[in-house]
Amino acid sequence: MTKILSENGAFPDQVLLAAARERGAYAGLRQAITESPQDVILEVTESNLRGRGGAGFPTGRKWGFLRFDSNRPPYLLCNADESEPGTFKDHWLLEHDPHQVIEGILIGAHAIQASQAYLYIRGEYTSLLPTITRALEEARAEGLLGPDILQSGRSVDITVVTGAGAYICGEETGLMESLEGKRAYPRVRPPFPAVRGFAGRPTVVNNVETLANLPWIIRHGAQAFRAVGTSDSSGTKLVSLSGCINRPGVYEVPMGYSLMQLLEEEGGGLPPGRHLKAVIPGGTSVPVLTADEVRSVTIDFESMRAAGTLLGSGGMIVFDDSVSMPQMLGAISHFYATESCGECTPCREGTGWMDAIVARLLDGHPQGDDLDRLLRIANNIEGRTICGLGDAAVQPVRSFVSKFLPEFEALIQNAAPSEQPEWQGHGHGPRTARYGPLEDEARRSEPVTGQPTYRW
Ligand code: SF4
Repeated sequence: MTKILSENGAFPDQVLLAAARERGAYAGLRQAITESPQDVILEVTESNLRGRGGAGFPTGRKWGFLRFDSNRPPYLLCNADESEPGTFKDHWLLEHDPHQVIEGILIGAHAIQASQAYLYIRGEYTSLLPTITRALEEARAEGLLGPDILQSGRSVDITVVTGAGAYICGEETGLMESLEGKRAYPRVRPPFPAVRGFAGRPTVVNNVETLANLPWIIRHGAQAFRAVGTSDSSGTKLVSLSGCINRPGVYEVPMGYSLMQLLEEEGGGLPPGRHLKAVIPGGTSVPVLTADEVRSVTIDFESMRAAGTLLGSGGMIVFDDSVSMPQMLGAISHFYATESCGECTPCREGTGWMDAIVARLLDGHPQGDDLDRLLRIANNIEGRTICGLGDAAVQPVRSFVSKFLPEFEALIQNAAPSEQPEWQGHGHGPRTARYGPLEDEARRSEPVTGQPTYRW
């Protein structure tokens, strides 16, 4: 299998510049810097490289939105705020092959004519700082970074910034706010970052893995990149494999690779005696797949979309038949409720409500129409929020309940009758007081039908 991103990361000395250069590091930069920015953008556009952070937007097209203005030179921001649950592939790249990421940032900065780039690293990833700092210092000392790169006349510097330790710092406009020293409240768009981004300047935000592909694309050409993967999903994908699997870890596979094959061969299968129940294929923000769906899905954008989910960040979480899906949903919903920044009402209130309802189901205090109520809340969040966190929180709720409905119904049916009628909160402290009165109001305004009617 072609390895674009992980070929050299297995060598312990790959973090050192001399060893990395012996294996070809910075050859792509040396070539790109002799080409015009427009030619680099054209090459990347023709490669059909799509963003690896989650959205899958074509990278060349994203760069093409910028209109260069010498009075307002752009910034390139490398998004290493990897906070999606189940995702740790950018950490692997930065830890094992930092020069590949640095080279990718420099090529990207050359393409958009930025002289300053920022590497925004997740606040919890501080253990990476010594490795990255040393790599940057070595590159700077060798004239690969800073003024007059490789005597080309081009200057690009990279500044490392550690994040504020919140999921929302990885949202591109939240990241910019954080970089400006403010609380990471996502921005209302327009204006889009390509027009007015970090510090009011045109800005491109690219994911670590996306940028790490650039050296290979420049060295081998767009057509070689397109030759790997599928027609709509070029290249390879780094996946983070975790959960009920014998060999969790980061694996690079060509786009179009069978998800089942990944589990069985790279992942070494499930623990003895266990059977596959479900897989979250792209971080917890995407709909879960059942075992039957997993068997027919391949790892690429179009196959995932056809199966009703998304490739997302490639954070793959495996569940076997010992896992309670309501309990998993409880953990996921609680995550989104606590990570909501609170800026917009549907997300701030809705994620808290979804968390509260799943929690009371698990606590044995359900109300008869709780599953319908979950759907109504989810529907009233989706598409009505400033950033994608609201939509992200909806996907697991909707897919877990619809695909594993009997497990959720059993929680309602098995609850003691005396515990069902009155909403008493669910033991989460402040949330009981916060949601109790609203819950009472909702109950007064809704007719009691006796039987829940699920409309998932
Ligand atoms: Fe904040 Fe949620 Fe609104 Fe995003 S959707 S801006 S996280 S409240």
